[in-house]
Amino acid sequence: MRDVIVVGAGGGGPVVAKELAAKGLDVLLLEGGPRHADLDKEWTHYENDANNPLTGFLRFGPADRAKPAWYRETPQNSFLWQLSGVGGTTQHYFGNCPRAYPGSFAGYAGADRNAYDVAHPFPFSYEEFVPYYEWVEATLPVQTAAMGTKEEVFFRGCENLGLPVQTGKTTTRNSFRPQENAILQPGGFAGKVAGNDRELRLAYPQSTGCTLCGYCIIGCSHPVKAPRNQIAKRSTDNSYVPMALTADRWSPGGKRVELRTDAFVTQVHTEQRNGKTTATGVTWRVGATGEKHREDAKVVVLAGGCTENPRLWLNSGLPNPNDWVGRGYTDHHFDWVFGTFDEYTGSSKGTGSSARSDWPGRGGVMNVGIPPALLSFTMAMSDSGIRGAYANGRGPTGTWDGPAGRVLGNELKDVMTHGIDRMFAMLIMTDDDVEAQNRTSLSALPADEHGSIAKLEMHQRNRSARTVANREFLVHRAVEIARAAGAAKVYRMDWAPIILHVQSSMRMGHSETNSVLDENGAARWVDGLYIADNSALPNSVSGANPTLSMQALSTRTAEKIFTSRFGGDPWVGREAPVVSTDPRVGA
Ligand SMILES: Cc1cc2nc3c(=O)[nH]c(=O)nc-3n(C[C@H](O)[C@H](O)[C@H](O)COP(=O)(O)OP(=O)(O)OC[C@H]3O[C@@H](n4cnc5c(N)ncnc54)[C@H](O)[C@@H]3O)c2cc1C
Ligand code: SF4
Repeated sequence: MRDVIVVGAGGGGPVVAKELAAKGLDVLLLEGGPRHADLDKEWTHYENDANNPLTGFLRFGPADRAKPAWYRETPQNSFLWQLSGVGGTTQHYFGNCPRAYPGSFAGYAGADRNAYDVAHPFPFSYEEFVPYYEWVEATLPVQTAAMGTKEEVFFRGCENLGLPVQTGKTTTRNSFRPQENAILQPGGFAGKVAGNDRELRLAYPQSTGCTLCGYCIIGCSHPVKAPRNQIAKRSTDNSYVPMALTADRWSPGGKRVELRTDAFVTQVHTEQRNGKTTATGVTWRVGATGEKHREDAKVVVLAGGCTENPRLWLNSGLPNPNDWVGRGYTDHHFDWVFGTFDEYTGSSKGTGSSARSDWPGRGGVMNVGIPPALLSFTMAMSDSGIRGAYANGRGPTGTWDGPAGRVLGNELKDVMTHGIDRMFAMLIMTDDDVEAQNRTSLSALPADEHGSIAKLEMHQRNRSARTVANREFLVHRAVEIARAAGAAKVYRMDWAPIILHVQSSMRMGHSETNSVLDENGAARWVDGLYIADNSALPNSVSGANPTLSMQALSTRTAEKIFTSRFGGDPWVGREAPVVSTDPRVGA
């Protein structure tokens, strides 16, 4: 019998696995997708090779790319952006690691305390949480982002609007700042020589950290020839997973985690013990052979993400007495604003985003640079028909009086003629409310080899008044930033749901009536079962990019498991954080 089985090796699972293995527990980490081991051979910078949702190396599907991707039922005109494989959706992520605004935590007493989702706060204070933030920030590590021309453009817009610059990590006022991100700063020749010099000066160790190649969204494999734990972007496949696999090397008394990939968990097993439904282990299916395996554990931790955890829970027949399993799904109700400029903006260069503006109580706006195919994709997704040609009668609500929608015809020609490096794009990240209607349930579509599939219900056109008002507020600010930076023309997409910041579908909370987890991340209705990924978050983390907050929460949950289930001392190992770039890690 294992001490702990963790289901899912994405953003959250490896954090729990690493923390508990460092303390000497026997941990099995199960991941449904592949582990990309040799990035120089397996990954390219071809967008279709990477991002094709059916066949790309970054997709949601089994390890064998010749086999079909896993389908999920989603609302029409939306895209659920989740990845399988070691690193999970962090393989895609930009590494942005802002802390949530303190207003989304219990006990916040600022003057704007009623501006947040006050019905669904974190069930503890921001002050209690800060040491866990600091621990993750040290481990990844999180640093101030390397910046380029697109960030200069963003800062110019913010400065011209009179916004103050924010320098500390705790944000309580409207402001702008460089991102804090989990990307190693460029060193050596990185960022200084041309991209076709890969074999020589852009290879490790002549170059270290970010080479500013501009491909964060299709997986970071730079600098070439670097040991895995020295790859620039700290997605968990480059940070927490190598640490978990080598915990016996760098942690006194530590034990290395066993990782099994192509291992999709189909059942959480329980039995009645002392009158309580108690988790006893899991069964998984091996993708390559179809074989099923079962193992038992003292503790089971779910980290399959916001859409898959509810599915696994419901397929396993686990209790759901308050009907909150899968409910309260938040997604930052994104929108997308971009401008065309008569000057070079460097939009396709460098990290995905290295600048942001913060609007506590409302959410955030960040600059974004992405490669051309994804840019076209983003411009083709709107909830408002075709800009200037066909209004579908919906359109943005609130005070927006300009056109919105997909860009086509002469306007598209105009945009494309300007070119990607004279464009400038911003993502609107709304502090959206936890609403019971937004949820994951089981679909009536045919089951796949793992059981009934997940059905995602996001009510894009029927969000709470606060969510809608926040989104409109942030769109207006983004338009102002673009104009103040000198944009010749500004476009608003009124984005259809591009679902990639997902939170809170198995939320922790104060109240038994609207949460699945207690304040320790433990399932209320199943003993020995914990959740440690974005679905455990109590709310939309105030519109901040969620992964840092989730990883801090997963660190806290690991500590609760260690102390309450294994009689551990929470202070063991705390005095000396080991950074994931430590030479002893390296796997
Ligand atoms: C393009 C893009 C950019 C992003 N940028 C940022 C950013 O800059 N900053 C930020 O904070 N966030 C960002 N995010 C969001 C970030 O990726 C997520 O917050 C994070 O990955 C969530 O971690 P998770 O563990 O909840 O889920 P995931 O990372 O999705 O991991 C879940 C894992 O569990 C596995 N799994 C699921 N079910 C099972 C099962 N039954 N058995 C076995 N394995 C299973 C999956 O295959 C997957 O690997 C971005 C996302 C996208 C798509
Ligand atoms: S810009 Fe390139 S090297 Fe830098 S983090 Fe992104 S993918 Fe990695």
